[in-house]
Amino acid sequence: MRPARALIDLQALRHNYQIAREVTGAKALAVIKADAYGHGAVRCAQALEAEADGFAVACIEEALELRAAGIRAPVLLLEGFFEADELSLIVEHDFWCVVHSLWQLEAIEKAALSKPIVVWLKLDSGMHRVGLHPKDYQAAYQRLLATGKVAKIVLMSHFARADELHSQASVEQVAVFEAARQGLSAEVSLRNSPAVLGWPQVPSDWVRPGIMLYGATPFEEANAVAARLQPVMTLESKVISVRELPAGEPIGYGAKFITQKPMRVGVVAMGYADGYPRLAPTGTPVLVAGQRSQLIGRVSMDMLCIDLTDVPQAGLGSTVELWGKNILASDVAIAAGTIPYQIFCNLRRVPLLYSGS
Ligand SMILES: *Cc1c(COP(=O)(O)O)cnc(C)c1O
Repeated sequence: MRPARALIDLQALRHNYQIAREVTGAKALAVIKADAYGHGAVRCAQALEAEADGFAVACIEEALELRAAGIRAPVLLLEGFFEADELSLIVEHDFWCVVHSLWQLEAIEKAALSKPIVVWLKLDSGMHRVGLHPKDYQAAYQRLLATGKVAKIVLMSHFARADELHSQASVEQVAVFEAARQGLSAEVSLRNSPAVLGWPQVPSDWVRPGIMLYGATPFEEANAVAARLQPVMTLESKVISVRELPAGEPIGYGAKFITQKPMRVGVVAMGYADGYPRLAPTGTPVLVAGQRSQLIGRVSMDMLCIDLTDVPQAGLGSTVELWGKNILASDVAIAAGTIPYQIFCNLRRVPLLYSGS
């Protein structure tokens, strides 16, 4: 059997969820969209269900998967419905529904709903992706109430730059939000992971942690709360071949790496078809036989090469951690010019093995 696999530590997931609660004192929707950022949405939801205030996903397909698996907790659709005919399923399954555009408001006004729904009314406070314009916000709130079809409205917005701790952009977004919601007495929800970890002063009845649940920091710089997170996923494989090469020899596709000295090279069963980033350069950290070493040469589809020259205890069959408890996914992401979110979401082909449920 191919030794590539991702170990998922559900105890660490619960630990990280509790940190989101503890540092904010708020209710927390665990964001498990995109198959829980590659960690397996159903298993993660099952592991959190006893303590979580609810879950958030991107679309009704993801929400239905949770209900089919027996998850009864609240599930928020972060983009609401894409077509008005989803409203009947939203009612049937008690999904909570973001309204981010006037067309969605109009669809609710027109729909015949057998039961009122919970709506999270989204403001565009400056990101300019989705969300109602501030000038439309109060009127949209009143129109929703007037339909008689909503059981509750939560006021929400989303940060564009909360991961930039020295930027004023989030402060400005909060000011836009506060002005737009003036006089409305409803719960609010603004904070994603970087805002949970780095913006304690932002008001929140509900927080929406995603990446921090999986134990990865959204920041490039050190952060005291992020340092308490426990990585949930360990992506590992084994050395399947060892080569001794003299100086001056190329390694891998494109001969992108040439040995400058005699080297011992290990070939690992892991490649970009597993989701390991192809653009990770020579020098990207790995752990082999318990010791830090580095990637060398180009990542292939099914294999990659690592330096064993200074790791004499490593050899055929040695375990390699590509990211996990020792090699942080965020460090691999930075090396590869991406973010841990994408590193996790790209995972495929490798079996997910769970512990701590
Ligand atoms: C994905 C998402 C989140 C979670 O973001 P993280 O940065 O992973 O914490 C929160 N809110 C909304 C609206 C999202 O789309």
